[in-house]
Amino acid sequence: MRLLIMGPPGAGKGSQAELIKKHFSFPHISTGDMFREAIAKKTPTGLLAKSYIDKGELVPDEVTIELVRGRLQEPDAEQGFLLDGFPRTIIQADMLEEILKENQIRIDLVINLVVEDEVLIKRISGRRICKSCGATYHVETKKPKVIDRCDECQGELFQRADDNEETVKNRLDVYYRQTEPLLSYYRKKGLLKNIDGEGSIEAIFAEIKAILGGI
Ligand code: AMP
Repeated sequence: MRLLIMGPPGAGKGSQAELIKKHFSFPHISTGDMFREAIAKKTPTGLLAKSYIDKGELVPDEVTIELVRGRLQEPDAEQGFLLDGFPRTIIQADMLEEILKENQIRIDLVINLVVEDEVLIKRISGRRICKSCGATYHVETKKPKVIDRCDECQGELFQRADDNEETVKNRLDVYYRQTEPLLSYYRKKGLLKNIDGEGSIEAIFAEIKAILGGI
């Protein structure tokens, strides 16, 4: 199965993607994670991406598309994948379609998590992430057992540089201007499935599982 998971920043795409990956064994391809890895390794792509990510802007389409094109050619993506955070612009969506067409495959479903702005801002500004395994926590709603330590692997928790309130507002602005138009793009293709993203992680995942089970 080839899936996209969409929604504004803080909608819970990453949390759901992790669960989908574990349950259905698809590779989880997150462009945000790929950029953060490139930044940590100080590669030329990482250095370029950092200057955009820190401001809450999108990394240029050409750079992002090349990254995804390379990743989709890896053997683990042959049988299916879950794309998280890509596409984020109409140009990226058109390019994705071309890449898939070259390989005679297509997207089966686009899951869109719907969450109000107020909830998104609260979620993102309290989000903490484990440096070692990437598990996510929240300073109010999902506290770790030991302060600043991951429950799973005892790794150190940190706040993403772009998770501060000011950058979050810009990321939301960018989302509504550049990414939200993709919803009607996929709706017209009959691929879009909206899901209320304000329930518990478990309840949302149960809904996703039921939908994917029926495909
Ligand atoms: P995320 O982890 O998905 O919230 O992504 C973090 C940041 O990485 C975004 O705010 C963008 O700056 C950049 N980014 C991730 N995916 C894309 C994409 N498809 N196109 C452009 N920039 C992206």
